[in-house]
Amino acid sequence: MQKKTIRDIEVGGKRVLVRVDLNVSLKKESSIIADDARIRAVLPTIEYLIGNKAKVILCSHLGRPGGRVVDELRLTPVSRRLSQLLGQPVMQVGDCIGDEVERVVGRLREGEVLLLENLRFHAGEGENDPAFAQALSHLADIYIDDAFGSAHRAHASIVGVASYLPAVAGFLLEKELKIMGEALNAPIHPFATLIGGAKVSDKIGVLRNILPKVDSLLLGGGMACTFLKAKGYEVGLSLVEEDKLSFARELLEKSTCLLLPLDVVTAQRFETNAPLITVPIAEVPENYYIMDIGPQTIRRFAAELQGSKTVIWNGPMGVYEMPPFAEGTKAIARFLASLKDATTIIGGGSTAEVVEEVGLTLAMTHVSTGGGASLKFLEGETLPGVAVLMDKEK
Ligand code: ADP
Ligand code: MG
Repeated sequence: MQKKTIRDIEVGGKRVLVRVDLNVSLKKESSIIADDARIRAVLPTIEYLIGNKAKVILCSHLGRPGGRVVDELRLTPVSRRLSQLLGQPVMQVGDCIGDEVERVVGRLREGEVLLLENLRFHAGEGENDPAFAQALSHLADIYIDDAFGSAHRAHASIVGVASYLPAVAGFLLEKELKIMGEALNAPIHPFATLIGGAKVSDKIGVLRNILPKVDSLLLGGGMACTFLKAKGYEVGLSLVEEDKLSFARELLEKSTCLLLPLDVVTAQRFETNAPLITVPIAEVPENYYIMDIGPQTIRRFAAELQGSKTVIWNGPMGVYEMPPFAEGTKAIARFLASLKDATTIIGGGSTAEVVEEVGLTLAMTHVSTGGGASLKFLEGETLPGVAVLMDKEK
């Protein structure tokens, strides 16, 4: 990586501001954390800083409070969980900038950890307001970005602060960029990519960037319907993005390695309990929705993936939120987990959710902690949060 990391900077005795992405999902109407993966993902950086006697000042957003204080979106449950995982107290303050926060930071001792309050209680965070960024930077001597999940956002705590403090990458950010960067830029072949999800329009950038690099491109999910339509198939009541048909045609013409579903599970209504039938792709009933890939497609995709050395997967193969239509996505997850000697990378929030649900997160090489950020990265874009970090000396 060309960017400096936590290893390239002296942290002992320093006040270190660490931007983490602790935007965990909370169970409805309670402050119980539904999934603490994002907290666990940043432990290596925090533990390193504690071990190296830094004064650790963590900051994060949680939800979308819209620039005002929303009590349900305080970081209290997060600090409690983090403290359990670290096995030491995590101090909290009621805000993320200002005199009171500066006083608490002033008393912080080496190896202690403080979690600032939700950054998005201030409108200046989302607006990348220089005054807010400067106020944050007042708290510290060094800035470490370990918030991969937010690196695609030009917010004050991601981009702004780097103008005022020496800025380097934490271990999670480094790992995400390294694994996905190598897969994209120097993949071990055969290299296959699976793209699914709801809409083509969300995936155009990824498809364009990845097509010239891959040996196979497998398409499923709702987005495959526009491609199927472009090939002349009828897709029943499924969404076809009319304005993306020409893009789909262009891709179909350019690519010799693109696979579409051969059969699909269809349902009479877009509902869990709707009557369903599995049909070959040429026989989708006109009053049905395509909800998932069928068994023949699963076998064909598995055969194509067999022997791959690098696989990137973004986007579910079906409407996985409804159990009858989650089978295709789960089958693909299980198959990827069974691949030997392959680098398997999962990008995308929903895709990561399914993989976690079937208990296969650890069976993959890498499950990205960033949904939107991993998509932007796969599009080949430089993430604003990465661009502002200090370059390694040549
Ligand atoms: P990710 O978050 O992994 O990037 P997306 O956000 O692109 O994935 O897509 C996830 C959504 O795609 C899910 O809500 C899922 O229900 C939807 N989806 C998948 N297949 C279909 C389909 N056949 N019809 C409609 N929606 C679908
Ligand atoms: Mg999504």
